[in-house]
Formats: sequence, structure tokens, C-alpha cells
Amino acid sequence: MEPLFEKATRQHTKNHNSRFVLRTIYDEGEISRAELARRTELTRTTVSEVVANLIDQGLVEEIGHGPSLRGRSPILLKVVEDSRHIIGVNLANGSMHGTVINLRGEIRQRVSKPFPSRDGDVVLKLLYAVVDELIASTGRPLIGIGISSPGLIDPTIGIVRNAVNLGWQELPLRQILQARYNLPVHLANDSQALALGEYTFGQHRAGPNLVVIKVGDGIGSGIVLNGRLFHGDGYGAGEIGHVVVAENGRQCRCGNVGCLETVAGKYGIIRRVQEGAWANPSSLLHQLAPDQDRITLDTVLQAFEAGDQTARQVIQETGRYLGVAVANVVGILNVQRILLTGWVASFGEVLRDAVMQGMRTRSLPLLSEQTTIELVPDNGDMALLGASAQLLMSELEFATLARGRLAEPVLQELAGRFV
Ligand SMILES: [Zn+2]
Repeated sequence: MEPLFEKATRQHTKNHNSRFVLRTIYDEGEISRAELARRTELTRTTVSEVVANLIDQGLVEEIGHGPSLRGRSPILLKVVEDSRHIIGVNLANGSMHGTVINLRGEIRQRVSKPFPSRDGDVVLKLLYAVVDELIASTGRPLIGIGISSPGLIDPTIGIVRNAVNLGWQELPLRQILQARYNLPVHLANDSQALALGEYTFGQHRAGPNLVVIKVGDGIGSGIVLNGRLFHGDGYGAGEIGHVVVAENGRQCRCGNVGCLETVAGKYGIIRRVQEGAWANPSSLLHQLAPDQDRITLDTVLQAFEAGDQTARQVIQETGRYLGVAVANVVGILNVQRILLTGWVASFGEVLRDAVMQGMRTRSLPLLSEQTTIELVPDNGDMALLGASAQLLMSELEFATLARGRLAEPVLQELAGRFV
């Protein structure tokens, strides 16, 4: 009988070869067996065995003949992009946004449900319902579940330390979901997942450093330094929403007074617009929302787009407050590329100019002159893709997705996280 240890080692090598071959086919798009053997430096026999196995599993298919080489035209192989799916859920944009994603990061299904309350148990049950529905919608085997959540998250042990909007404290979400679905689960802070998503798949990729500031219900940011997501010692890096910017401001839900969130977060803006509209009877906001309690962000945007001065002033003021936070980021990190995302992006150049102005008056001119601020709309997908990329890496050891190639430091980062 074969000794157990040797058997285990043989199995390990087989798995390693299989993943290496699969990853190479994935990276190349289309490739022949002979070319695979050259690229992987495995023998042709091994490659043939591994490929036969991958075809059996439905992960790889033959797609006919490639260009002829010395009279022989080899059969090409490619990864079957919908052979496995990933469930991705983003809990960060005021509703539960769930998707089915394929191996190239293409979204195949969407399910969106509003949060019925901020009761943690109710939110968890809604999450089960969304994941159940998504799983039922795809007949494909699943790689895992990627969750992007607001709040303080420890991704290494998969615990939500504190997510006020969801009513979760010290919730071992990864463990709970793994037990329920028997699938790998990756949990990430939404701003951090979003930053990694933008860094990896974003439209205008440049340089190894990036800060993404997301203004939603709350305000958070994700920091990529030297191609790596920077978590901080307690996984709270980028929590700029609770930096105090208004000394005599309002009480914040965190307990402090005058946090950035209280003036530039969604509720801060609505409150300031309500007060402004009340004080100014000629404001268009009176017509759009006769009852000041019915003013929403959409009302603000409508009034702003129609040229209402009250709405415009509040947005400019919001921009200057955000500029204070950006000035801090610039002063501490000197990162030259800053993306602003979330609903603020809808306010365009007026907001961006105000952020630039706020930043310039509070940071060294030499540093602020080199800093660019871009507005990027957020439909919730980028954070999902950031979380999914991590599952593809950890479960299949893929290094690329459709729209981009992960930089080597990011690969090391991801690999280090899943040991
Ligand atoms: Zn606060």
C-alpha cells in the first residue's frame, strides 16, 4: 500500500499543476496544449492529463483549431467563463445589492432589496433571502460568496466589528454564512473593496497609489499604497467620516461632535438643505418638496440641476468640507490620485471645484498642485468586483479578470490573506 504521506504529496502536486494550468489558460485566453507545456514547463503528458481533468470538470473547453504551425494546426483551449459563478453582495449603498458574477467578473444576475429596518437580525435574514434567490437563479457550481459591507470589518477572521447602519456588532458573518451555505466566504469593508476594485479594474489606471473616498450614507475611504490595500493596524484605515471638521457642529452617531459625516454625509446634506430651504422661501426646493421633511437627495439633485441657489450653496459647502478631509489625506500620504465616488459624483464640477478649493487652502501648494481629484459614479458593482477578485484568487488562484491584470504586489497581498 502507498504510504499516506506520499499519497498526500502526490495529490498536492496534482492540485498545484491543475491550478497552474487553469490559471495559464485563463490568462492567455486561448492556448494550445503544446504552448501550455512550454509556458508551464510541465511535460506534455502531464498537461494532457490535467487538461482532460479540467475538461471533465467543465472548467475548460476545446474551441477548434488555431493557426497552423508547420502544417499542424493545434486545438485551442479556453476557460468556460460561466462554468463557475460567484455570489457578490454589497450592503453599503442603502439597499442590499446582490449579483451573480462569472469567472471574468461579468454580472449575470442582479437582485436588489431595500433594508426594511436597521435591526441586525432582520438585515441578516434579508441577506439570506438575497443569497438564496441568487443561488436559485444560477444552476452553476459556486466558487463562493463575496460580501462588501460598510463599517469596521476584520477581513482575516471575517467579523463585522461594527456596522451601525446594519445593526451589526461583533458579528462573525463569514462563519455564519459558511455554515449556512457550505461555501467559501470573503468579507471586506466596502470602501476598501471599492478601492481595490478601482485600482484593479478602473478605467484610468495609473501609478501604484490611490485613495478612493466614498460619500454615501456615511463617508469612508480605501487606501492603496504601492499596489497594496492599506488596512491599518486595526483594519480601520481610511475611516475619515469621523474626523471632526466642524468644531461647534452636530452630534454624530459615533458620539463625537462635528464629524465630517454630520455635514457631508447624506443626512448632513439633507438637514442643511432643509434648513436652507426653510430660511429661503424663494428656493425651488419649496416647490419640489412642499413639506421640508420630504426633501431627499433626489430633490436636492433636481433643484441643483435646475440652478437653485440654496442647493448649490449647500453642495459647495459640502465640497469644501470634503476638501478638508482630502487636505489631510494629501498632507499625510501625498497620494496624487484621489477618486470621489458615491452620490456626490452626480454634482459634477461644482462639487469638484469646491473640494479642490477646500484642499488647496489647507495643504502645501506644492503637494496640492500635483493632486488630481476625479469623480467616479458608484453603482455598487466595483466593490463587488473587488471582493470577487479576492475569491477568484483564493479559490482558483486566478490573477486576472476581464478588465485588468492584478499587479504583483496585489497578488502577494491577496495570497497572504488567505493562508
Ligand atoms: Zn462621528
